[in-house]
Amino acid sequence: MIQAVFGDALLDPASGDTAKDAVVVIEDGRVKGAGKRDATQVPKDAEKIDASGLTLLPGLIDCHVHLTSLGEGLDLARELTTPPTFELMRAVRAARRTLDAGFTSVRDAAGSPAGIKMAIEQGYFPGPRMFVTVSALSQTGGHTDSHFMCGADLDIPLPDRPYSVVDGVENMRVRVREVIRAGADWIKLCTSGGVLSPGDQPHHAALTIEEIKAAVEEARVHGRKVMAHAQANAGIKNALKAGVSTIEHAIWLDGDAIEMMLDGRNGLVPTLVAPHWVIRHAEAGKMPSYAIAKAKAVIDDHKASIKLAIESGVKVAFGTDTGVGPHGSNGEEFLLMHELGMEPLDCIRAATNVAAETIGMSGVGSLEPGCWGDLIGVAGDPVADLQLLARPDNVKLVVKGGDVVKRGLN
Ligand SMILES: [Zn+2]
Repeated sequence: MIQAVFGDALLDPASGDTAKDAVVVIEDGRVKGAGKRDATQVPKDAEKIDASGLTLLPGLIDCHVHLTSLGEGLDLARELTTPPTFELMRAVRAARRTLDAGFTSVRDAAGSPAGIKMAIEQGYFPGPRMFVTVSALSQTGGHTDSHFMCGADLDIPLPDRPYSVVDGVENMRVRVREVIRAGADWIKLCTSGGVLSPGDQPHHAALTIEEIKAAVEEARVHGRKVMAHAQANAGIKNALKAGVSTIEHAIWLDGDAIEMMLDGRNGLVPTLVAPHWVIRHAEAGKMPSYAIAKAKAVIDDHKASIKLAIESGVKVAFGTDTGVGPHGSNGEEFLLMHELGMEPLDCIRAATNVAAETIGMSGVGSLEPGCWGDLIGVAGDPVADLQLLARPDNVKLVVKGGDVVKRGLN
């Protein structure tokens, strides 16, 4: 099967070059050639996909989503009446909306068992290519400990989604092995408190360096890396000292933490849009009061922290924590990154080639020959206008592995 997508232009984020009158040729799901039409061979029997009026670019990557989370606020009564099977089905709709927004690859930062990724791969329902972390590991009372003060525990472990609370070095090794056994591509740890959890504070560190190191070592043995939900300054530093590969949220970076991040061995995933959604949901009456107060307290510090990181040249990869906000709204993050000083082309790189490199997913974020035929089309130059990537309506064409999965009105 050969497809040829004919667009007005083709943006290569890595080089920043835009080719006019472009074509992308995809054979058996993989890019065979891409560039100017007069310099790219198009086989006669190729199925022609008309993308006139559109600029083509690689499918976008979101390095931090939660496909099984609803993204419509936190309603504890609703969670209590949601069977685990229904929770999984949320991912079907979320996966569709994520694709429609132009995101053809994601790293799920907890919640999605490996079965969701497998079902998408085998064509049971449309969705992005996935890396999964399955369960996010935290200490007792930490970010993913779902015990409430009444004594109820909302985290019901499933056979393929191991329990997420862990204390002590040896237990950490066991838990990491369990998560890997369940099919995790990445290990997710919580090295600080968070906004949506009832019993902890974002500015408090969590897990000991020894526990984090044990997870990193265990992950490495199995060819995995570790991502850390890290908001507190001490939690960020502990994670970096222990060898974690990506820092998520990073509300309180300082000069020392940034210096540690400049060694090139790790990346920052800001998720700037997440606290905005907590506040928006709160204004609509869909958030418990503890989360509202915490979101309002962190939002300005978060911006200052990420601004400092951008100015200092820290490697920033695109991530949204969607599942806090509604699925499909991922693109708003582009505008917030730009607001904090990132050039539009760098924002696009953060969601393409830099994201692919940061999470180690091969064949995505680029339309070099051999990469997956994942691309999107927008009506204009996204480097001149990031709005073109910010809203699902503005993404007119989405192709995944050569298949047209969204065709909007130009
Ligand atoms: Zn998250």
